[in-house]
Amino acid sequence: MVAGNWKMHRTASEGAALARECVALAAADPLAKRCEVVICPPFTGLAAVGEALAALKGSGVHLGAQNMHAEVQGAFTGEVSGPMLSAVGCEFVIVGHSERRHVMGETDAMVAAKLRAALRDGLTPIVCIGETLAEREQDKTAEVLVRQLSAAYSGLDAATAAATVVAYEPVWAIGTGKVASPEQARDAHRVARATLDQVVGPSTGSAACILYGGSVNAGNAATLFAEDDIDGALVGGASLEAASFWKIIAAASALNRP
Ligand code: PEP
Repeated sequence: MVAGNWKMHRTASEGAALARECVALAAADPLAKRCEVVICPPFTGLAAVGEALAALKGSGVHLGAQNMHAEVQGAFTGEVSGPMLSAVGCEFVIVGHSERRHVMGETDAMVAAKLRAALRDGLTPIVCIGETLAEREQDKTAEVLVRQLSAAYSGLDAATAAATVVAYEPVWAIGTGKVASPEQARDAHRVARATLDQVVGPSTGSAACILYGGSVNAGNAATLFAEDDIDGALVGGASLEAASFWKIIAAASALNRP
């Protein structure tokens, strides 16, 4: 899977145009069907991008949101719920992105509530975890990943957990140009798999789809994807141009044998 997080970029009409460009590249690429593609525009672009994707039948490109509120409706000014996302065609939603955890103050408990709400509302959550630079330097990476995953997944059964996607995104690598080495990402993904086995049940970790995110681009994607434990990428900056996004998808498709 390759998912594009547009963050707070692109108006509705700019987003629809970018989505059409991505779909045109998908249609021209015979290997594209080997990779599940998700694009996550800001809330204001979801309807227009959803319509653009729906008009291009069988595009294979899915729509995702960048965040949601855990409640279905209510007095939560500025928030958007799962059913509202489904109504504009979303199938996926990112929860616990590091910018929401560290800039907007989301806690592990809030992320756990959003994960459950996404599943309740029929959305596939892409659950972000990852350590800060200070935590890595203090050798606390595994501790942080175990804490974040345990909080998010405890109490879920194996089938429910399997309906989610995990994105390991070291905070120091997001938007910085400092990509984790394939070995650093692999080791973190192995910690995540072992934690899911412990928290949810045996074999949950090996079955999980775990993406790497943090400064993935057309130049480094293939090396990351060559690691068996890396099932794809969550891409920020490089998803804002169809050509660079598509090179990352092509790198994933080339490795993923049918
Ligand atoms: C992200 O926003 O999740 C991300 C990984 O951003 P970037 O690719 O720009 O580092």
